[in-house]
Amino acid sequence: MPIMEPVTTTSNDTADTGPTEPRLLATLSPSRASDFKQCPQMFKFKSIDKIESPPTVFQARGTTAHLALQRLFDLPGPEREPQRLYDLFRAAWMEIKDEDYPGLFESVDDERAWGIESLNVLANYFSIEDPRTLEPLDRELDMLEDLDGIVIRGILDRMEETDDGLVITDYKTGKAPPERFADKAFFALRIYALLIRHRTGVTPDGLKLIYLTGPTVYQVPVDDEQLDAMDTQLRALWATINTAIETGDFPPQTSKLCDWCSYQDICPAFASEQPEVT
Ligand code: SF4
Repeated sequence: MPIMEPVTTTSNDTADTGPTEPRLLATLSPSRASDFKQCPQMFKFKSIDKIESPPTVFQARGTTAHLALQRLFDLPGPEREPQRLYDLFRAAWMEIKDEDYPGLFESVDDERAWGIESLNVLANYFSIEDPRTLEPLDRELDMLEDLDGIVIRGILDRMEETDDGLVITDYKTGKAPPERFADKAFFALRIYALLIRHRTGVTPDGLKLIYLTGPTVYQVPVDDEQLDAMDTQLRALWATINTAIETGDFPPQTSKLCDWCSYQDICPAFASEQPEVT
């Protein structure tokens, strides 16, 4: 999971007089593109209105695990042992908890239980691959590419040369989708592959999703035809988002995912369920 991805910018807070036009997209990250595809209203709450949703224990685990895994590869290969990864996780959590997740846990016991569960999830990593044998070409790579008129930005988790060629890898700490729905989960990685092709002129050969919970690994090949299709899709999405910004029309798109949406209380699609204000 790419972390701390930049968001689109649409605010008009630089205006000082008179009515202002809404700002169109300056950049788009894979995660915000995915938000809009899932639900334009959610995209608006998050990226335009900039309503912060309360951090969750799942986000805290994802952020901390990414930091730990990133730093694991700073160590010489032979030292990339489970205990070192657990130590890196604990150190990363101590580093970010007060600033990024203040008051996340009601008690020390809750935090400790979360920590133990997190280490159990991390332990799965070593049943997926042996980090002592890997030397990634890049980790946490900040990508900002102007694809001839649309500017895409995001952070790529990891990229390495393997027996299957050049592979882009993304870590996930959430639960893996069933295999028949897994293709959708590669949306962001196809965008990163497109950015890598644009930056280096080399088309990656594979995309890999590592779900630490489970664990589950999905890997698919990627080629120029897929990336050309992604390029077309992104341009269409960019134009659709700009039209939504100009018209102010961000229709809510209800789905099972609404159950996990932190904006449900203020979502127009659920307005009839909200208590009347008297
Ligand atoms: S509750 Fe559902 S419809 Fe409303 S913003 Fe969230 S995802 Fe969209």
